[in-house]
Amino acid sequence: MTEQIQYHRGNLGWIEVICGSMFSGKSEELIRRLRRAQIARQRVQIFKPKLDARYSQDHIVSHSDMKIKAQLVLAAAEILDLVDKRTQVIGIDEGQFFDLRLVAVCNELADAGKRVIVAGLDQDFRGRPFDPMPQLLSVGEYITKTLAICVRCGAPANRTQRLVEGADRLLLGSAGAYEARCRLCFEPPE
Ligand code: ADP
Ligand code: ZN
Repeated sequence: MTEQIQYHRGNLGWIEVICGSMFSGKSEELIRRLRRAQIARQRVQIFKPKLDARYSQDHIVSHSDMKIKAQLVLAAAEILDLVDKRTQVIGIDEGQFFDLRLVAVCNELADAGKRVIVAGLDQDFRGRPFDPMPQLLSVGEYITKTLAICVRCGAPANRTQRLVEGADRLLLGSAGAYEARCRLCFEPPE
């Protein structure tokens, strides 16, 4: 599908959304698309929210250890300040950790002719839609839903099970804090 997208001509921008549970391959897929754009010598800029200091600071790193360099931003609006006007492709990881302004920012960039690719969790640890991903799904041109493998039963998994106590929506992935589960094996926290 991504290959097809490349056939767009002229100054037309658009939004691609990659979403699913943890371990579903969102970062891998984002990195794959961005690498291909870099190989094609397109101008690429990559952003991620500053709060996620889990792995290497200034890289997007997948659970399978794929890596790509990224710029850290504190808020969605900052992306607009940092984007060079010659940039053709913009990658954004961990979209769910940005404020709702991310939707307007992505729209503005796509309107300006840029290919915008956003990856993020579609659900929080309770299985509820994780803003601003639902809003991006509604305005984006291309949607990819990725699935993990349920660690309990092996079925396709689109839920993220939190394995430790805590009511905060934001609990950064210390190893072993989350696992992928299918809808039947998922146990929503109280
Ligand atoms: P995401 O960004 O969606 O969290 P990543 O792209 O970082 O996912 O990682 C995907 C990789 O995670 C897979 O290729 C695989 O190596 C690893 N992985 C670990 N647990 C699982 C699982 N339960 N199902 C699928 N992949 C898993
Ligand atoms: Zn299961």
